[in-house]
Amino acid sequence: MIEFRNVSKVYDTGTEAVHNANFTINKGDFAFLVGSSGSGKSTLIKILSGLFREYEGEIYIGGRSIRDISTKSLYKMFSVVFQDINLLAYTVGENITGSSGKSDEKKVWSALERAGVKEKISHTEKGLNQLVHKYMDEKGLEFSGGESQKLAIARALYKDAPFYILDEPTASLDALAEKEIYEKFEKITDNRTTVFISHRLANVTGADNIYVLESGNVAECGTHEELLDRHGVYEKLWNAQQELESFGKETA
Ligand code: ADP
Repeated sequence: MIEFRNVSKVYDTGTEAVHNANFTINKGDFAFLVGSSGSGKSTLIKILSGLFREYEGEIYIGGRSIRDISTKSLYKMFSVVFQDINLLAYTVGENITGSSGKSDEKKVWSALERAGVKEKISHTEKGLNQLVHKYMDEKGLEFSGGESQKLAIARALYKDAPFYILDEPTASLDALAEKEIYEKFEKITDNRTTVFISHRLANVTGADNIYVLESGNVAECGTHEELLDRHGVYEKLWNAQQELESFGKETA
C-alpha cells in the first residue's frame, strides 16, 4: 500500500506543483493518475520513486516513510517507464539490463517477448548483441517510436521490481498502438501495484482506481463508473475527450 499524507512540493522557481495531496494506492491495484497537463502527476511520481527527495508531508510504502529508505533502495523498488524513451548506443541486451556486466539472457528474452518486441530482435543477425543506433556504427539498428517504447517496457519488466510506474509511456503512439500497450501491460504485471499516468482517458475504463489530479491535488478518485456518477472534474475531462475523439473521426 502506498499512502500520500499532506504531500506538497514547491520548485525552486516558486511553482507549487503538488499541494497537500492525500490519497492511498492499494496493493496490487492497476491505478491511473489522470489530469490535465501541469496538474502535478509527474512531480508526484518523481517524489515517490526517489528522484526528488525534498518535499513536505510523508509518503508511506507498507507503513514505512520513504524518508527512511535510501535513494538506491527506492530505485530498486520501482520499475519506471518515463515519457522520454532513451535508447543508448549500446547493444539491445545492455539497453534492457542497464549494464554491460553479466545478465540473465533467458530473462531478457522473456521480457522482450512479453513486451511484444522479441520477434524483431530475434530476426537480427546478432540478437541481444545487436547494436542500437547508427551514429556509433553503421550496422546499428534504429527503432521506431513504438518499438522503442516496447524496449523500454521490456527494460522495466526485466528489472522485476515490486512496483511499476508508467509515465505517459504511450505519448508518441497512435491510438491503436497505445491500446495494445495498455492491454499488454495489464496482463503482464502479475497483480503488482502499477501506476499509469495519462492525460488520455480512453484506456482508463478498466482501472481499479482512477485518481484525478487538479492543481497538484487529488480532486476525485474511484472507478470509471463511480467517477462518472459524481458528475465532477472527471466527467468533464471524459466528455471533453469523447467530443475531441468524435470530432477527429468526423474529420478523418
Ligand atoms: P503533469 O505531469 O501533470 O503535466 P508536472 O508535475 O510535470 O505536471 O508539473 C506540475 C507543475 O510544476 C507545472 O506548473 C510545471 O510547469 C511545474 N514544473 C514541473 N517540473 C518543474 C521543474 N523542474 N521546475 C519548475 N517547475 C516545474
